[in-house]
Amino acid sequence: MMIENKKVVSIQYVLTNSDGQEIDSSVGKDPLLYMHGYKNIIPGLEEALFGKQVGQKITVSIPPEKAYGVFDENNKLQVNKDQLEGIDEVKLGMEIQTRTKEGVQLYRVEKVFGDTVILNGNHALAGQTLNFDVEVMDIRDASDEELEHGHVHGPGGHHH
Ligand code: ZN
Repeated sequence: MMIENKKVVSIQYVLTNSDGQEIDSSVGKDPLLYMHGYKNIIPGLEEALFGKQVGQKITVSIPPEKAYGVFDENNKLQVNKDQLEGIDEVKLGMEIQTRTKEGVQLYRVEKVFGDTVILNGNHALAGQTLNFDVEVMDIRDASDEELEHGHVHGPGGHHH
Protein backbone atom coordinates (compact mmCIF):
# COMPACT_ATOMS: atom_id res chain seq x y z
CA MET A 1 0.00 0.00 0.00
CA MET A 2 1.30 3.44 -0.81
CA ILE A 3 0.35 6.89 0.39
CA GLU A 4 -2.37 8.49 -1.70
CA ASN A 5 -5.60 10.37 -1.16
CA LYS A 6 -8.01 8.93 1.41
CA LYS A 7 -5.31 6.93 3.22
CA VAL A 8 -4.75 7.34 6.94
CA VAL A 9 -1.02 7.71 7.39
CA SER A 10 1.04 7.39 10.54
CA ILE A 11 4.42 9.12 10.64
CA GLN A 12 7.27 9.80 13.02
CA TYR A 13 8.89 13.14 12.33
CA VAL A 14 11.50 15.61 13.45
CA LEU A 15 10.99 19.21 12.41
CA THR A 16 13.93 21.61 12.34
CA ASN A 17 14.22 25.20 11.16
CA SER A 18 16.82 26.54 8.72
CA ASP A 19 19.27 27.03 11.62
CA GLY A 20 19.04 23.33 12.41
CA GLN A 21 17.14 23.92 15.64
CA GLU A 22 14.53 21.34 16.52
CA ILE A 23 11.06 22.91 16.59
CA ASP A 24 8.92 19.84 17.03
CA SER A 25 9.25 16.08 17.06
CA SER A 26 7.11 12.99 17.54
CA VAL A 27 10.10 10.94 18.72
CA GLY A 28 9.35 9.33 22.06
CA LYS A 29 5.66 10.13 21.62
CA ASP A 30 2.87 8.60 19.60
CA PRO A 31 3.24 8.95 15.85
CA LEU A 32 1.29 11.65 14.05
CA LEU A 33 -1.76 10.40 12.17
CA TYR A 34 -3.24 12.33 9.30
CA MET A 35 -5.56 11.72 6.39
CA HIS A 36 -3.90 12.25 3.04
CA GLY A 37 -5.44 14.79 0.67
CA TYR A 38 -7.44 16.58 3.37
CA LYS A 39 -5.07 19.38 4.30
CA ASN A 40 -4.53 17.86 7.77
CA ILE A 41 -0.83 18.69 7.38
CA ILE A 42 1.06 21.38 5.47
CA PRO A 43 0.92 21.10 1.66
CA GLY A 44 4.68 20.64 1.16
CA LEU A 45 4.81 17.66 3.50
CA GLU A 46 1.74 16.09 1.96
CA GLU A 47 3.31 16.41 -1.50
CA ALA A 48 6.57 14.88 -0.31
CA LEU A 49 4.80 11.89 1.25
CA PHE A 50 2.68 11.01 -1.76
CA GLY A 51 3.55 7.57 -3.15
CA LYS A 52 5.69 6.57 -0.17
CA GLN A 53 5.38 3.21 1.59
CA VAL A 54 5.69 1.91 5.15
CA GLY A 55 9.28 1.98 6.34
CA GLN A 56 10.40 4.67 3.91
CA LYS A 57 12.26 7.65 5.30
CA ILE A 58 12.31 11.04 3.68
CA THR A 59 14.11 14.30 4.35
CA VAL A 60 12.44 17.31 2.87
CA SER A 61 12.95 21.06 3.00
CA ILE A 62 9.70 23.00 2.65
CA PRO A 63 9.58 26.70 1.73
CA PRO A 64 7.14 29.02 3.60
CA GLU A 65 4.70 29.09 0.67
CA LYS A 66 4.14 25.35 1.11
CA ALA A 67 4.38 25.41 4.89
CA TYR A 68 2.75 28.05 7.12
CA GLY A 69 2.81 30.90 4.62
CA VAL A 70 5.01 33.93 4.12
CA PHE A 71 5.13 36.45 6.94
CA ASP A 72 2.67 39.26 6.28
CA GLU A 73 3.49 42.45 8.20
CA ASN A 74 -0.06 43.69 7.52
CA ASN A 75 -1.70 40.67 9.05
CA LYS A 76 -2.06 42.40 12.39
CA LEU A 77 -4.91 43.95 14.30
CA GLN A 78 -4.94 46.66 16.90
CA VAL A 79 -7.83 46.28 19.29
CA ASN A 80 -8.99 47.56 22.64
CA LYS A 81 -9.13 45.12 25.53
CA ASP A 82 -12.89 45.76 25.73
CA GLN A 83 -13.26 44.16 22.28
CA LEU A 84 -11.82 40.88 23.51
CA GLU A 85 -14.92 39.41 25.06
CA GLY A 86 -14.64 36.54 27.48
CA ILE A 87 -10.94 37.02 28.18
CA ASP A 88 -10.19 38.10 31.72
CA GLU A 89 -6.48 38.64 31.40
CA VAL A 90 -4.71 39.31 28.12
CA LYS A 91 -1.25 37.74 28.11
CA LEU A 92 1.59 37.88 25.62
CA GLY A 93 1.63 34.91 23.27
CA MET A 94 -1.96 34.03 24.08
CA GLU A 95 -3.94 32.72 21.12
CA ILE A 96 -7.25 34.34 20.36
CA GLN A 97 -9.83 33.24 17.81
CA THR A 98 -11.81 35.91 16.08
CA ARG A 99 -14.56 35.73 13.55
CA THR A 100 -13.98 37.85 10.48
CA LYS A 101 -15.71 38.05 7.13
CA GLU A 102 -13.31 35.36 5.89
CA GLY A 103 -14.18 33.02 8.74
CA VAL A 104 -12.44 32.13 11.98
CA GLN A 105 -8.92 33.44 12.28
CA LEU A 106 -6.35 32.73 14.93
CA TYR A 107 -4.28 35.59 16.32
CA ARG A 108 -1.46 35.70 18.84
CA VAL A 109 -1.14 38.54 21.33
CA GLU A 110 2.06 40.31 20.32
CA LYS A 111 1.98 43.47 22.42
CA VAL A 112 -0.06 44.93 25.23
CA PHE A 113 0.19 48.55 26.27
CA GLY A 114 -2.49 49.99 28.50
CA ASP A 115 -5.83 48.97 27.07
CA THR A 116 -4.41 48.48 23.59
CA VAL A 117 -3.59 45.04 22.26
CA ILE A 118 -1.71 44.20 19.07
CA LEU A 119 -2.77 40.87 17.58
CA ASN A 120 -0.60 39.06 15.04
CA GLY A 121 -2.43 36.82 12.58
CA ASN A 122 0.68 35.17 11.15
CA HIS A 123 1.27 31.57 12.13
CA ALA A 124 4.18 31.26 14.56
CA LEU A 125 6.12 29.46 11.81
CA ALA A 126 5.15 31.85 8.99
CA GLY A 127 8.09 32.89 6.83
CA GLN A 128 10.18 29.88 7.84
CA THR A 129 11.62 27.13 5.70
CA LEU A 130 10.94 23.89 7.52
CA ASN A 131 13.01 20.73 7.36
CA PHE A 132 11.30 17.45 8.06
CA ASP A 133 12.83 14.05 8.67
CA VAL A 134 9.97 11.64 8.35
CA GLU A 135 9.51 7.89 8.61
CA VAL A 136 6.31 6.29 7.38
CA MET A 137 5.07 3.96 10.14
CA ASP A 138 1.68 2.83 8.90
CA ILE A 139 -0.81 3.30 6.07
CA ARG A 140 -4.45 2.21 6.09
CA ASP A 141 -7.69 3.00 4.32
CA ALA A 142 -9.81 5.71 5.89
CA SER A 143 -13.25 4.66 7.15
CA ASP A 144 -16.38 6.16 5.59
CA GLU A 145 -16.89 8.21 8.73
CA GLU A 146 -13.35 9.57 8.63
CA LEU A 147 -13.77 10.52 4.99
CA GLU A 148 -16.98 12.32 5.82
CA HIS A 149 -15.34 14.25 8.67
CA GLY A 150 -12.07 14.89 6.86
CA HIS A 151 -9.90 13.76 9.79
CA VAL A 152 -8.64 10.66 11.56
CA HIS A 153 -10.60 8.98 14.34
CA GLY A 154 -9.48 6.72 17.17
CA PRO A 155 -6.03 6.54 18.80
CA GLY A 156 -3.94 9.49 17.63
CA GLY A 157 -6.99 11.13 16.05
CA HIS A 158 -10.27 12.72 17.03
CA HIS A 159 -12.44 11.21 19.74
CA HIS A 160 -16.09 12.04 19.36
ZN1 ZN B 1 -14.69 13.21 13.20
